[in-house]
Amino acid sequence: MKPGLKDREHRFIMQTYRRAEVEFVRGDGALLFDEDGREYVDLLSGISVTSIGHCSPGVVEAVSSQSQDLLHVSNLFYTEPMVDLAERLSLRSIGGPVFFCNSGAEANECAIKIARKHAHGRGIENPQIIVFEGDFHGRTYGALSATPGLAADKALGPMMPGFTAVPFDDAEALKTAFSTETAAILLEPVQGEAGVFPVSEETLSTARRLCDESGALLIFDEVQTGVGRTGSLWAYEQTAVRPDVLTTAKALGGGVAIGACVNSEELGQVLEPGDHGSTFAGGPVAASAALAVLDTVDEPDMLRRIRELGGFLATALGQISGVAEVRGRGLMIGLGLDAGLDARQLNAELLNRGFLANAPRPDTLRLLPPFVLSDRQAAAAVEAIGSALSDLRGKAGSQ
Ligand SMILES: *Cc1c(COP(=O)(O)O)cnc(C)c1O
Repeated sequence: MKPGLKDREHRFIMQTYRRAEVEFVRGDGALLFDEDGREYVDLLSGISVTSIGHCSPGVVEAVSSQSQDLLHVSNLFYTEPMVDLAERLSLRSIGGPVFFCNSGAEANECAIKIARKHAHGRGIENPQIIVFEGDFHGRTYGALSATPGLAADKALGPMMPGFTAVPFDDAEALKTAFSTETAAILLEPVQGEAGVFPVSEETLSTARRLCDESGALLIFDEVQTGVGRTGSLWAYEQTAVRPDVLTTAKALGGGVAIGACVNSEELGQVLEPGDHGSTFAGGPVAASAALAVLDTVDEPDMLRRIRELGGFLATALGQISGVAEVRGRGLMIGLGLDAGLDARQLNAELLNRGFLANAPRPDTLRLLPPFVLSDRQAAAAVEAIGSALSDLRGKAGSQ
């Protein structure tokens, strides 16, 4: 690291993150390079953001050429990239209109607004949104209040009312909590921050049926699962259900900040002028970057590659001793470790070996590798995880 960088970070940045002791200066595909010129294989993709690799040529080209022409004009006027992007997102998902924003939390804020407004339209005075324990929906107050694990933090209270949490993937609890005041069920089809836990088909179809019977909305937060991560453009495509509202962000801009909320064609235009807005949203640079991302990801060969590489990694990692289970879909992978093994230590060992991952919980290592990871890099990652785990097991055994 550059001398003094850590001290200045501590002095001048609000300390909301614990950073690893490495300073990155360059990225190329699945690789990152630190200040000392050391190479790392990125198995995290900036938490499912740089999914098509660092500085993906299409994204770099789109950003540089658009930024020569126009950076920003505001949403008071028309620009073409955002309309192109909205059309593409809509037609490749649930067919209705899109609201653009700049992050995942904001995409969920829009979904919450749609759910509440739609519920008021159905005569519900006090709309409630049901969420799962362990779900993560973001850090703004609406999204935070929808995130049971964080909403419990009294120091940040009071939270926004109107959310009911039920145990994860519990169809019976969902039925019990569901009432005439339920405006929506909001869920991650595969929980990400909780440690990679897919929701069962049974629970998804129960959620769908409850919403169909009552007129409530089923909202999928695909901020982490979307844009190819699970091996289809959206995770819902691999299930029997279709949400009424879908949110996306993270990988959508390939590293440029952008989020979007889309609702179904059947719902149509729920929000009207004055209901919502965002100054930077849908700006031409971010929209052009996202169009370049979709050009790359939304291709049968690419989606097949994600599923194949995901299958290879799941099988190979499942054979390593110390790995109790492999969870996930496509290239969204959670490695559940044997009791006594600490995923945070494993993650630190991997960083020493030149591989980036993360440990969302003490017993789980999470991998969100870029789709451009080569066979050789994938094999090296498996090897590194095996040797790091074997070192850890040696240490755990000698204690
Ligand atoms: C990361 C994430 C968010 C929040 O996205 P931000 O861009 O950090 O606001 C919301 N939902 C899910 C499922 C996420 O993984």
